[in-house]
Amino acid sequence: MKLDQRLQQIRLILSDVDGVLTDGGITYDNQGIEAKKFHVRDGLGIKLWQSTGHKFGMLTARNSHIVKVRAAELGVTIVRQGFEDKLPAALSVIAEQGLAPEQVCYIGDDLPDLPVLKAVGLAAAVADAVSEVRGAAHITTKATGGQGAVRELIEVILTGQKRWGEMVTRYGG
Ligand SMILES: [Mg+2]
Repeated sequence: MKLDQRLQQIRLILSDVDGVLTDGGITYDNQGIEAKKFHVRDGLGIKLWQSTGHKFGMLTARNSHIVKVRAAELGVTIVRQGFEDKLPAALSVIAEQGLAPEQVCYIGDDLPDLPVLKAVGLAAAVADAVSEVRGAAHITTKATGGQGAVRELIEVILTGQKRWGEMVTRYGG
């Protein structure tokens, strides 16, 4: 299938968190409190994507309150944490949303993402993903994880769906 066709079918983007929505860094303070850094332009991209009626979800093997906070801030209700085996979690989200795997894009950076990437219609990798993940992807972003890669992906998909212009027009562009 051509990339254009893949882009047009996408209704749900599922994203890994560490290494995709962040640069992979996990910092701890002296009290052992974890922190992560997200990119503000990914945030706006996710809001724009959802404003078109499309869905966005976060899927991570780890578990942290930070992910809940970031998801809530962006109005993202699909959050699955603590799933080391990501494929069953992804398939259950896809079924719950009443979608077919062809209507889903998944973006990842590391080996645990491979089974999901192989199951969905559009497989995406961040620029600094491991080579196996880049090899399995239909799209590799120019941006690295945590540096606007998800925003870039959203722009590519909405451009393929001829809806990116609408987004820019909203801001007077
Ligand atoms: Mg990751």
